[in-house]
Amino acid sequence: MSHDESPWPRLPVAGLTPMTTLDYPDHLACVVFLQGCPLRCGYCHNPQMLEPRRAAPGEWAEVEAFLERRQGLLEGVVFSGGEPTLHADLPSAAARARALGFKVGLHTAGVYPRRLAETLPHLDWVGLDVKGPAARFDTIVGRPGMGAAHARSLELLLASGIDFECRTTLHWRDLDLASLRRLALDLAEQGVKRYALQVARTGQCLDPAYAQPVADAPPSSELRDLVETLMPAFEHLELRV
Ligand code: SF4
Repeated sequence: MSHDESPWPRLPVAGLTPMTTLDYPDHLACVVFLQGCPLRCGYCHNPQMLEPRRAAPGEWAEVEAFLERRQGLLEGVVFSGGEPTLHADLPSAAARARALGFKVGLHTAGVYPRRLAETLPHLDWVGLDVKGPAARFDTIVGRPGMGAAHARSLELLLASGIDFECRTTLHWRDLDLASLRRLALDLAEQGVKRYALQVARTGQCLDPAYAQPVADAPPSSELRDLVETLMPAFEHLELRV
């Protein structure tokens, strides 16, 4: 089926950031946020994007009209959320964005490996959340079976050769420095080259307890020291505060 004959993807669009330099490394990109996420991370600062809904006709067509107006001005399109791989039409939307000349990026928690596998051929870059160590994964995201699904997604990314970054949100209710160190070394051992540590924003959290200070949070100097010691394990390791 040719591009023109294929049906429009149906995607529930929660928002569009028209231009950013932060969401796709080294690229000027827009971000398409898709509604719905099966996870319940306590620190989630987009709780309004969690509830899934059916897409209304024409939502993707509006995004595509925007993309056509930005051809030659933006380099990339990033699908974010929510959890973009929740949606069956993500692969076709990614293919259409690429056919318009954009590089296509994806932010994902990696909990739908089959959908990720279908989308990978249409992607140029992936930011994969790593919510925590395998033993704590399901507790951190509030849903069973997710750690195993995530492990499969990481395998797929490593095997694909696609450019990707792992990123972990640091909230000291979920992690301590020792478990963070083990997690980082485990990722490096598996072959992850690029890793970003992002200190959680606590202004708005799904679980109000996550907005409160954590009594045994490590001092930022100890976190920076840990990052220094982990540097040799990665091609690129970044602390985002
Ligand atoms: S932070 Fe967790 S709950 Fe919130 S959108 Fe991301 S994966 Fe979903």
